[in-house]
Amino acid sequence: MATALKGFKLKLYPTSDQQILFRCTFGCTRFVWNKMFAMQIARRKNNPKQWLVSRFGMDSLLPLLKKEYPWLKDIDATALQMATDQLADAYTRFFKGQNGFPHFRKRTYAQSYTSKCINNNIQVVDDHHLKLPKAGLVYFKAGRLPAGKIKRVTIRQKSAGHYEATVLCECEIADLPKTGKSVGGDLGLKALLILSDGQKEPNLRYDKQLAKKKHQWEKKKARRLLGAQAEIARDKHEHPNNVRTLEDFKNYQEARTMVAKYAAKEAYQRQDQLQKYTTWLVQNYDLIVLEELNVKGLLKNHKLARAISNASWGRLVAILAYKCRWYGKELILVPPAYTSQECSSCHERNQRLGLSQSQWLGVREWDCPSCGTHHDRDINAAINILNKGIKTAA
Ligand SMILES: [Zn+2]
Repeated sequence: MATALKGFKLKLYPTSDQQILFRCTFGCTRFVWNKMFAMQIARRKNNPKQWLVSRFGMDSLLPLLKKEYPWLKDIDATALQMATDQLADAYTRFFKGQNGFPHFRKRTYAQSYTSKCINNNIQVVDDHHLKLPKAGLVYFKAGRLPAGKIKRVTIRQKSAGHYEATVLCECEIADLPKTGKSVGGDLGLKALLILSDGQKEPNLRYDKQLAKKKHQWEKKKARRLLGAQAEIARDKHEHPNNVRTLEDFKNYQEARTMVAKYAAKEAYQRQDQLQKYTTWLVQNYDLIVLEELNVKGLLKNHKLARAISNASWGRLVAILAYKCRWYGKELILVPPAYTSQECSSCHERNQRLGLSQSQWLGVREWDCPSCGTHHDRDINAAINILNKGIKTAA
């Protein structure tokens, strides 16, 4: 048994009043973030020796801010607290060297806010209704219902315009039954993962029809953006007091939304595949060994196919890591050096069979020069990865 924080995504269908409230909350939390951030910067400027105002210090400033701007009282108070918490976290990450310096929040097409659950003010009432502070009952589409103790909820408006809630719950998770099986996996380009027992998970199944339509809308979006920008430039020249913004160009907004919709659909498909596949892996194997990703080396590669696979490799490893922790399984990452050149039967390195680097990359199957075993390149690599992992585990 382990306790873990699990996120449950729900697609929301807010009423128009609720949509207005959500948008107000996005604006207010952004306002609080920007006010506090400006205050921190100004304080530091006046006296560089002064410490930052802490999370608690910022919390205690909130009532003053509410007095000055009474409309802040109309929205969920915990969402404002979360904004100051997030700013404090951003500073912490900056001081640890994990992130860059925090920046002011701008109005964007994708927005979000987070509410904390205090005294059961956030509840899943039934299969279709989520109770939120200030907003009341919000309808959602049936999906996987949140289970466990609700800690907080993040409301998002995606750039395609639809709303989503991520409900973060504290759950008790039981270990999955042990299968006694171990597996090594080689991350590939043609297949997402090749397992040492020969099974392959095909790479992201992009819907070609979808990709084509998305591309058509991307072209329209680019063309309409140029048109709108030209109109705006003319406005600035002819009547500088009444300049339109991109919001005023309905046909550009239509194309932008369509592109965002197709992109969201693709992302959901990819997420779905990764979630299902990683669940299958932890159900079937007790020990999973993968190669360490050389992130710095990968970033230098500009090819698109590669970039997409890289992104999903990172996600695959990250999802597997937490699922193994939840379900009592083990994930080991090993350095990938020589895994494709070594013979998994006699452990001789084949020195790329005397080929150059680029020629060797094209070899799919080979015979070991010392023991004669016939190898599938990827499966052999996966077996070597598994062996390295077992050595590490022992
Ligand atoms: Zn051999």
